Amino acid sequence: MSAIPSLELLAPLSGVLLPLDQVPDPVFSGRLIGDGVCIDPTSSVLCAPLSGVVSNIQDSGHAVSITDEQGVQVLMHIGLDTVNLAGKGFTARVREGESVEAGQVLIEFDADYLALHARSLLTLVLVVSGEPFTALVDGVVDTGQPLLCLGARTPAEVATRQEEGEALFSKPLILPNANGLHARPAAVLAQAAKGFAASIQLHKHQSSANAKSLVAIMALQTVKGDVLQLSAAGEDAQAALDSLVALIAEGCGETAAAEAPVETFDAPVTSSLSLLRGVCASPGTALGQVMQLSEQVLNIPEAGAGEERERGLLEGALAQAARELQTLQEGAAGSAQAEIFRAHQELLEDPELLEQAQLLLGQGKSAAFAWRGATEDTAALFKRLGNELLVERALDLLDVGQRVLRLILGAEARAQVLPDDTILIADQLTPSQTASLDTRRVLGFATVGGGATSHVAILARALGLPALCGLPAQVLEVANGTPVLLDADLGQLHLTPEDADIQQLLAKREQQRERRERDSELAHHAAITRDGQHIEVTANVASLEEVEQSLALGGEGVGLLRSEFLYLERSSAPSVEEQAATYQAMAQALGPERNLVVRTLDVGGDKPLAYVPMDGEANPFLGIRGIRLCLQRPELLRQQLRAILACAGQTRLHIMLPMITRLSELREARQLLVEEARALGIAELPKLGIMIEVPAAALMADRFAPEVDFFSIGTNDLTQYTLAMDRDHPQLASQADSLHPAVLRLIASTVKAAHAHGKWVGVCGALASEVLAVPVLLGLGVDELSVSVPLIPSIKAAVREVNLQQCRVLVDQVLDQEGAEQVRGILRDHQQATAATPVLEH
Ligand code: PEP
Ligand code: MG
Repeated sequence: MSAIPSLELLAPLSGVLLPLDQVPDPVFSGRLIGDGVCIDPTSSVLCAPLSGVVSNIQDSGHAVSITDEQGVQVLMHIGLDTVNLAGKGFTARVREGESVEAGQVLIEFDADYLALHARSLLTLVLVVSGEPFTALVDGVVDTGQPLLCLGARTPAEVATRQEEGEALFSKPLILPNANGLHARPAAVLAQAAKGFAASIQLHKHQSSANAKSLVAIMALQTVKGDVLQLSAAGEDAQAALDSLVALIAEGCGETAAAEAPVETFDAPVTSSLSLLRGVCASPGTALGQVMQLSEQVLNIPEAGAGEERERGLLEGALAQAARELQTLQEGAAGSAQAEIFRAHQELLEDPELLEQAQLLLGQGKSAAFAWRGATEDTAALFKRLGNELLVERALDLLDVGQRVLRLILGAEARAQVLPDDTILIADQLTPSQTASLDTRRVLGFATVGGGATSHVAILARALGLPALCGLPAQVLEVANGTPVLLDADLGQLHLTPEDADIQQLLAKREQQRERRERDSELAHHAAITRDGQHIEVTANVASLEEVEQSLALGGEGVGLLRSEFLYLERSSAPSVEEQAATYQAMAQALGPERNLVVRTLDVGGDKPLAYVPMDGEANPFLGIRGIRLCLQRPELLRQQLRAILACAGQTRLHIMLPMITRLSELREARQLLVEEARALGIAELPKLGIMIEVPAAALMADRFAPEVDFFSIGTNDLTQYTLAMDRDHPQLASQADSLHPAVLRLIASTVKAAHAHGKWVGVCGALASEVLAVPVLLGLGVDELSVSVPLIPSIKAAVREVNLQQCRVLVDQVLDQEGAEQVRGILRDHQQATAATPVLEH
């Protein structure tokens, strides 16, 4: 049989040829979609480079694929980020499924409009079916001129492709998971992929993984924001892509909240013998006695007793382990433990692990030896990859490995007898060990390994046990029975606590309990300073339930409604009616006398929406976020404004714009609000304000103030942008402190500018929820504190304790400090001094 002849592709437009490597977009330059060439166009009509069928044309008209009879598929993508133009500037001249001749017009585009509104006009011509090619021209090319010569394919290649079908590719996807595709989401993805007959690959840059293998997915080392792509070949390839793309976009069963990082402490290099420092894995304090966890040693023979027998042993143990995990999972239904055991179950079925074990069985090894080899090798690979999360996942693997080994060898899991008030110490604790801890006896634990995001830490938090990890190895030498004081909040383990330390801890706990009780009793009293200034204490909410809770706890309104909750974790935008019903219910709960500050949609590259396709961004926090996204998609914002306006008149309605950097953004958004209000016949506009969370806005507050009704300071983002520290970075957690004088100075100038124009200023970032920060925020002149719901009573109580005049003096002092640490020191002294003075009831 002869080979299928080679094929010439014609240039789809005129322009200058560029290699793909020069395209400033990693999806294309990384050849994630396919190899090809790029043309910087000088014409504005895109023609077919080959005869075939229009296999896909995007609704937005910026991309089209042609597939010929032999299965050669060529994708043309006009411009970069042009998907964001939502079709504006493009006129499609063909429809999907239509047959076209080489040279036929496919799409016309308005080059001037694109030049103004898109990132670039660079147009990609990609051979997505993967044939090798050689370029036939260099430099300048004209429409219709031969452009590429595609290499011949053998009939065998063609036959294989036809049997499996062409590989279909998904659109690029931005990974939303805070910790990448670690064990749990990877397990969910692998499990879902196994439901399809098609062979499915997950691609990240140049690397690919079998999407049905949990281990392979984890080894891709994905992180939040990675641009991924799926490809599938086989009968149900399209169905597989549709389903898996949606699954990845939704976080593979993981919500952002479930993975919220805990507060961590940097472990100082030095630790004295009486005090060891680690990282807080689960908050709290405990006083107890040390119990070192001893390892169960298993005796593993290398040689097997016949391949068949060993294979049977392994299969039996795997099946039994799966049943055990199922029981554990059902017993913990709905909790973090259940998810972890599900991931462990998934590991038992991992094709690559099983393949490795089978290989060793084939070499005459025993079932136990083969299984240990497979799990330990893979765990070692994870550790070598150096990624902190994978190192933690290696522990999961070893845990499952141990469970199966015990079953193969018929060894009972040995439960260690623990005394009362145990503080358990171990090199590592596996998730199974943690989940089976007797919490009546164990008060907390401390380990050398592990991290704040490990499964062990998640479990410790679920069990409500204080836990420290990352301790120095010396901790393993502490004798059983030694009394210790575990202060996970401060990241400390006191080995020889003095009586005084113990008394102090007990007294501190008692004081905190009493104080919480007192604050709750007074929660419904106004927050008025000792010298008579009323400060509004409102709530940060993301649901009607939280609005109701805030009112029950004495909240005086809503200072920040994070409206994202209406948009996230769904596959299409919420309708205006659905949004309006939610806002109206909140307005009704609050009544006509309280503020409802609705922040417009604050999502973007860091929190992508499945139904708002966006290209990957190298720095999503500096990219199309917040108001920038909404102004690029004005219809999204218009719909939200219409829904918010539905509750005009029912409450003190305020609209707040996030991530404002430039005055033009405020003006554009105001224009949309005016138009929508006019269309609805609403004469009196709601109050319109902006968040101050970008240093540019704080520095230009005097220019913004005349054009807004209020400011609300988002200290979370303001801190990250001022200090250039990612707000979720585990190692910078203790340094990215909103009490840094640089942040406080920006708050000071913002308040000054607002008050000069008679506008009020709130703080809705996490700093407002810190009791320690209350005097400084009040001294800076802040008018409203919008805080996390459970903290309303404490913040109101903290306001009642201070004297505004004294707070102003305090501010002069803190603004002059060199760092946040010094500011905290001064505020702690101030707190002690004010606590000593009795508060008069208002
Ligand atoms: C902030 O940045 O402080 C803020 C309140 O907004 P978010 O935390 O929702 O980004
Ligand atoms: Mg913010």
